[in-house]
Amino acid sequence: RVRRHRADGSWLYLSISGRPICAADGSFLGYRGTSTDITKMVEAERELARTSRVLRGTFDNIMHGIMVFDNDGRLVDFNRDVLQQMHLPADRLHPGMTFTEMFSVFVSVDRMADNVFQRELQFRLDHMQHSEAFVRERTTADGIVYEIRGHPMPDGGYVFTQTDMTERKRIESELREAKEHAELASRAKSEFLANMSHELRTPLNAIIGFSDIMRSQLHGAIEVPQYRDYVDDIHGSGVHLLCLINEILDLSKVEAGKLGLAEDVIDLGAAVESSIRMVSERAATQQIALSCEFPTVMPRLLADERKLKQILLNLLSNAIKFTPPGGSAHTRVSIEADGGLRVSVQDTGIGIAPEHLPKVFDPFFQVDSGLSRRFEGTGLGLALTRAMVELHGGTVGIESEFGKGSTVTARFPKERVVVDSRPLKPAA
Ligand code: ADP
Repeated sequence: RVRRHRADGSWLYLSISGRPICAADGSFLGYRGTSTDITKMVEAERELARTSRVLRGTFDNIMHGIMVFDNDGRLVDFNRDVLQQMHLPADRLHPGMTFTEMFSVFVSVDRMADNVFQRELQFRLDHMQHSEAFVRERTTADGIVYEIRGHPMPDGGYVFTQTDMTERKRIESELREAKEHAELASRAKSEFLANMSHELRTPLNAIIGFSDIMRSQLHGAIEVPQYRDYVDDIHGSGVHLLCLINEILDLSKVEAGKLGLAEDVIDLGAAVESSIRMVSERAATQQIALSCEFPTVMPRLLADERKLKQILLNLLSNAIKFTPPGGSAHTRVSIEADGGLRVSVQDTGIGIAPEHLPKVFDPFFQVDSGLSRRFEGTGLGLALTRAMVELHGGTVGIESEFGKGSTVTARFPKERVVVDSRPLKPAA
């Protein structure tokens, strides 16, 4: 084989053969032979060698043990990881050995009990014989967990992979334990809250009830004005505390998945009007104008009436609370293009800065938190509103412009909208 430089700088490979030609008297006359261009073949050989180096490199660095068997069940090849995983010197495995011989070597390292060895061996041999794939897990005497996979190869033969799963198993079991702990803690918290709120509500009812009687001076006048103020404060604080406890309890029920729906087909118009009536006194005191708007055909809603009213009251209370005197709160019920129902409360209040908007539905979030809070509240109203709307399969959203006002919207899916026999007309 010789090589020559071509004019363009590339190599030309030639295979030249020659036989010496001699005259009758034995004198050398020259060579007779052929010259063949073998450039393509040489290039193909090089490419093959390169590919096989890459494959070998991959084979030996894949982090899985790999063992390949031929059609007769004899070891053809294995990689370094097999030796490392089994802590074996290189000479313990060699091509040509049978699967049973190889498995016996493994077992001698692994200290596998005899009956287990027989069972595991048979399992693997059966799958090899029937060209069937399998996945199996095995824990060694040292506590190392391997995932063993067997796969028939397309042109006959069988390949085994062995992957060390110890670390992944450890993480999985830690995660499972952490989850169980968290669930246990969450259940304990819910139970604690349920018990505590029951224990707290009983004395609170006495505080609220008696301070109310004292406030109305039912059994005699309170002469000292400060005492009247104190009684007002005691009553106000009691009501506030009760409200807080109820909201915390509701929220913990939602978290525990225990807040169910008492569903009925309800008159939505009546529910909105009654909620507006309930806040009208507060609105009048704060000089907030209340108004509402219904679609031409008012559908009924399949919903939990008490929760729906709680949703409406939360939205209305916020609108009144966060709107300065002279402003307004407008409640609008409308039908969406997809047949769903939309209830929104729009105010002309202080609005919410864009950076706070994504957080207003988080429990205990209040924009103006800190000692200088001007507005009373628990920061649970919107969190509960969202939870209750979602229980109905709906969504809530808020749009707000700082200094201009906010609109909070609850949407209920069309499956909850009951139209009776009259047709549905989307609101203009
Ligand atoms: P709370 O009203 O008891 O503080 P909410 O969960 O109802 O709690 O509301 C969370 C926060 O979102 C409020 O503290 C307030 O800062 C802001 N917010 C809610 N509704 C409005 C509104 N209509 N206008 C302005 N800010 C609002």
